[in-house]
Amino acid sequence: MASARQIHVGGVPIGGGAPVAVQTMTKTETANLQATMDQIRRVAEAGADIVRVAVPRDEDVAALRTIVAQSPIPVIADIHFNHTLAIKALDAGAHCVRINPGNIGGPEKTAEVVDHAKRTGTPLRIGVNSGSLPKHLRDLEFESPVEALVTAAVEFVELMERLAFANFKVSMKSTSVPNTIASNRLLAERIPYPLHLGITEAGTKWSGSLKSAVGLGTLLADGIGDTIRISLSTFHAEEEVKVAWEILKALKLRERGPVLIACPTCGRLQFDMDTVVAEVERRLEAYDDPIEVSVLGCAVNGIGEARHADFGITGAKDMGMIYSKGEPLKKVRTEELVDELFKEIDRYYAAGRTVVRDEDEAAEAREWLAENEDATAMTPERLAAMEAAAADANGDGDKPQPLRLDEDVSPVTGRRFSRT
Ligand code: SF4
Repeated sequence: MASARQIHVGGVPIGGGAPVAVQTMTKTETANLQATMDQIRRVAEAGADIVRVAVPRDEDVAALRTIVAQSPIPVIADIHFNHTLAIKALDAGAHCVRINPGNIGGPEKTAEVVDHAKRTGTPLRIGVNSGSLPKHLRDLEFESPVEALVTAAVEFVELMERLAFANFKVSMKSTSVPNTIASNRLLAERIPYPLHLGITEAGTKWSGSLKSAVGLGTLLADGIGDTIRISLSTFHAEEEVKVAWEILKALKLRERGPVLIACPTCGRLQFDMDTVVAEVERRLEAYDDPIEVSVLGCAVNGIGEARHADFGITGAKDMGMIYSKGEPLKKVRTEELVDELFKEIDRYYAAGRTVVRDEDEAAEAREWLAENEDATAMTPERLAAMEAAAADANGDGDKPQPLRLDEDVSPVTGRRFSRT
């Protein structure tokens, strides 16, 4: 249920079925050109489609003109309280201006900004914040914060329509995840305009990422939301971009760069997987292709649920194995696993995206796997598979039956196991 209408922020389409756009906001003083441009370049490199800069003073407007000219991605000017600054930002060439009609000084001043946006052909973002709702909605806010947010947004949309202006998107921000979900669901049913999603003041990188993933992920999974911003308490805006991408990648809404899969580890782990996963993640940042790379902490599952991965490693105390698409490639010493994994990945690209397999090495790896695999072990992965199969069987008689450990067969080695 993407928005029916589409706008363009610079060259980036928002809404109307366009890919969900990733945006962030610079943390620098906008007037500090050097620092702001450095951060914009970093967020663009991290994958931001759009960047927003705060414009609270005249010196920021002065810098804005240069920023717009030099930025590799479209720039949104973020304005509060001062409609004159909004008009100046439009004149400075901002690709979009964000205003909150609730704090910009009333409908007349909003109308002045809209008139100017029409003249410059610039879209606006109409932002509603739970912390700055119009006075007449304060009682409603107390009774029903969701209804108050939605009412404020709808009233601002109606104002735009009275002003014969349709080149805008809408955001409703709240620090509450349930309120963000509920209000955006309601608003998506009531208006056809693109929606910008975010959880305001979400928190630190850790808690803020989780809150945003839950809130935005729920809405995006419903098809609601056309552009997203993750708000984190960090000076490094590129971290917000990375989190946004992980959410979009997890929902398969967009692809960017490799996908890393790693088991949660358990008591079967026999090597320092924390370090290995961190190193694999770090090195994968150098690749643009959306390959899937898996890291398993032990070989008792065989390749198991990682068989679809383009490349993967599974380790044991001294030796480990590299595999590709469910097939062993080679056995290597544990301390060489990461280096050898990346050699195989580079070989794959050098051969024109073809897995290069040495049959002798593959046979040796298969043998190692057969020795280390243990299909009788009740691993987290097998328990999950059994639960999923049981749930399917309960819901539908045609679905697969639960895994039976007394007749398990390794799909890689073909080896049969028996518990009795
Ligand atoms: S059993 Fe599963 S979770 Fe435990 S270390 Fe092995 S692969 Fe990781």
